[in-house]
Amino acid sequence: MQIKETNLKFNGQLKTRRTTRRVIIHHTATNGDVPAETVHNWHLSREWSGIGYHYLVRQDGTIERGRPENTIGAHAGSEANKDSIGIAVAGNFEIEKPDERQIEALVALIKNIIKRYGNLEILGHRDIMPTVCPGKLFPLEEVRKKVKEEDILKSEAWKLDIIKEARDKGLITIDHDPDEPASKWFVLAVSLNLLNLLNKK
Ligand SMILES: [Zn+2]
Repeated sequence: MQIKETNLKFNGQLKTRRTTRRVIIHHTATNGDVPAETVHNWHLSREWSGIGYHYLVRQDGTIERGRPENTIGAHAGSEANKDSIGIAVAGNFEIEKPDERQIEALVALIKNIIKRYGNLEILGHRDIMPTVCPGKLFPLEEVRKKVKEEDILKSEAWKLDIIKEARDKGLITIDHDPDEPASKWFVLAVSLNLLNLLNKK
């Protein structure tokens, strides 16, 4: 994952953010693509310090830097700004879907952020404030799943194997959340081994 530096100049001193609990996703609500620099100028003209988001994902999947990541943004109200990283995705997802490359880049970016900050909640702007942002066609649930899934695939594929076998054999009947405590996996693994032994006899 690469971040394109934009070297934007901010008005005044940006404040350092002390806590980071969530990632908040926005759309730019623009008709098509827009560079971080343009958004920066819009936000400057509102007499903000500059672009309110920490990152902007362009339609070709390029990730541009907005505010320095460790500073307080201006994107989700004064309370949420204090403990969140704001990411804008270029486009208006009330009327169109984001480009696949944007989703891919966004997932990579959030995974990279989580690697550095620990597990964070992934929210849409509308989860915080009365707004449609990031738009009804923005696949927030898909993004959450992808951020989670890829981690599981990399480090814990064995859990998926166990779940699949346990489901095939009727030990569990619904999808279990892979974040549940390790003891469950151990119990399932032992149960499967027992079942296999019994079936052999
Ligand atoms: Zn928003």
